[in-house]
Amino acid sequence: MTTSEHDWQTRPVESLTGVGSALAAKLARLGIQTAGELVRHYPRRYDDFSQIIPIKSMRPGKVTFKGQIERIAARYARGRKLHLTEAIITDGTGTVKAIWFNQSYLAKTFVQGTPVLLSGELKFVRNDLAMQSPAIEKTEAGRATKSTARIVPVYGETSGLSSKQLRAVMLPLMPLLATIVDELPETVRQQNQLVDLATALQHIHFPENQSQLAAAKARLAFDELWYLMLTSLVIKQEIATEPAPAIGFEVEVAQEFTRQLGFELTPHQKQAAWEILQDLGKTTPMNRLLEGDVGSGKTVVAAMAATMVMYAGYQAALMVPTEVLARQHAASLEPLFAKLGYPVSLVLGGQPAAAARAARQSLQTTEPRLIIGTQALLSDATRFGRLGLVIVDEQHRFGVNQRQLLKSKAGSLPHLLTMTATPIPRTLQLTVYGDLDISIIGAVPPGRTAITTKLADTAKREEVYQFVREQLTAGRQAFVVCPLIEDSDTRQVKSVTSEYERLKFGPFTRYKVGLLHGRLSAADKAAVMDQFAAGSIDILVTTTVIEVGVNVPNATVMLIENAETFGLAALHQLRGRVGRGEHASYCYLLADTKSTGTLERLRAIEKSTDGFRLAQIDLELRGPGQIYGRMQHGQLELDQADLTDVATLTKVRQSALKFLSDPQSLVKYPQVLARINALKSLTSLD
Ligand code: ADP
Ligand code: MG
Repeated sequence: MTTSEHDWQTRPVESLTGVGSALAAKLARLGIQTAGELVRHYPRRYDDFSQIIPIKSMRPGKVTFKGQIERIAARYARGRKLHLTEAIITDGTGTVKAIWFNQSYLAKTFVQGTPVLLSGELKFVRNDLAMQSPAIEKTEAGRATKSTARIVPVYGETSGLSSKQLRAVMLPLMPLLATIVDELPETVRQQNQLVDLATALQHIHFPENQSQLAAAKARLAFDELWYLMLTSLVIKQEIATEPAPAIGFEVEVAQEFTRQLGFELTPHQKQAAWEILQDLGKTTPMNRLLEGDVGSGKTVVAAMAATMVMYAGYQAALMVPTEVLARQHAASLEPLFAKLGYPVSLVLGGQPAAAARAARQSLQTTEPRLIIGTQALLSDATRFGRLGLVIVDEQHRFGVNQRQLLKSKAGSLPHLLTMTATPIPRTLQLTVYGDLDISIIGAVPPGRTAITTKLADTAKREEVYQFVREQLTAGRQAFVVCPLIEDSDTRQVKSVTSEYERLKFGPFTRYKVGLLHGRLSAADKAAVMDQFAAGSIDILVTTTVIEVGVNVPNATVMLIENAETFGLAALHQLRGRVGRGEHASYCYLLADTKSTGTLERLRAIEKSTDGFRLAQIDLELRGPGQIYGRMQHGQLELDQADLTDVATLTKVRQSALKFLSDPQSLVKYPQVLARINALKSLTSLD
């Protein structure tokens, strides 16, 4: 193969026939700059116009027929300020009227007598069958149609780009696909009964029938999932080659830990703890995800693991996403570890230089201790003397880059435990999380109060406020969550800054109202949280900064504005901020319940407290990008793959495992290795 044969893929779109600078600019907005990128821009859906039928047997609905222009005329309709083109088309069995708006050129292109194909929606208009703006093409022997008499691709119509335009530039590229290099190893392709890449690309755009389309989708979906799964499996293999200190299990240490804790671990917690302690005993690093609802007792389990590690003479670090959380964890864990005889250090980005230096110096000693901090723990200045375990709280995954950093700071890769309250559906466990072992705390400790969840239309806001005032008067506290920090010109949703003013001087003027959001300085945030925890703020207006981990048992109301803008998993997390004490608690979801789709989603959270079920529903209704977007960033560019299709996912995973079971595979297929390496660098925390 010569380079020129696949050169076309790198050609800028401007150089293609029919692509002017205006079209190129629109394509660029979709991230499409080359012909290769263009052919990988897939249709959103298809209109099946492949059945040609005689006019006399046509019924209202989607139809295609073949005929010739009997009459055609363009005129200006002054009253409607429109150019109208009207045509009568006949096929010998009957006639149909067609009408187009502002496309007067049609009357010149399709003159009387022209043989044509028309596809579109047939309707009754004043007792006559007629079509509005149907697709029309000349019938020419040997020439493929684009928009009629076939399964017609419909592309996502963003930035003013029409499907008709896209079909016109896409079709001439189809013959070039024959030269495309299929990187999927031939054996894998055959074992999984997949069509080759050229065929798949051709048929994803212009399928001749439904089975071609299905085969194309299956092939492209396979690629998306296969490389993703290979990547997580390779990461897993690589971690398994790193050395790590084996931490022995000491039953007395575990007993002393529970004694100081003051309560028994639940069976779920015991099971998770056992799985973690087993991993710690190995000579390769643990890479485990601990999943459990907010308040299910993950931190307690992690603390037990940390105790075992410190007893063995190593340091343990707990890394959390915000300084508020870091302080909160330090405040609750310090007394416990003081009793067990281990010091706790707090490392924050915003610390005064002297304090930061002192904290960092303490890490460089080899004395066992618990280090609590934010991402500042990964900053340049940090070095660890004898790090055995890193616990990452409220993050989905620790990426390749973070692991690399840790390794350089600690000398070797420590054991890793990631904790999350966002349930990961099984389908994602098989794909993006394939490198992690997973432990689940499936039930919260007994004795918690139930949370009543209510969906309320914004018209009912005043009634909800009345209820909140009653709670505050009874001595309880409330959260009000808004999606934005400041008002936006483009989004008609509430912002904390203006909502804070409105509530403070309006409905809650008799109460103390506080404001919290991510743009406050670390010191201000900490001060506000301290005041709220101490009860000197009654109602806290906040963004989702409080989504993670905040614990104020006296708060009994969570009121969420524009609830429709949040994912179910996020709403579930927010709801978990209340119901942490002895008082009955309430979560109000304020939303415009008349907007489409909102009701179905929000009813789900009203009815269910099962985080896993909610995450699966979210995945099905909104797709993975919306929910897991924070950590994905282009990593999960799944276009054809269906992340809810467990059967296919399982099949692809088996294929990936089989491929890797031959240690020579990645040597034999360097192009596969290259794809894996590219995906690897994308799996990071931020
Ligand atoms: P998570 O980290 O999962 O949000 P935590 O470990 O912070 O949960 O636990 C939440 C609260 O429940 C804490 O106050 C903790 O002390 C308490 N808790 C945890 N496990 C138990 C248990 N088995 N019995 C009673 N209380 C528990
Ligand atoms: Mg927690």
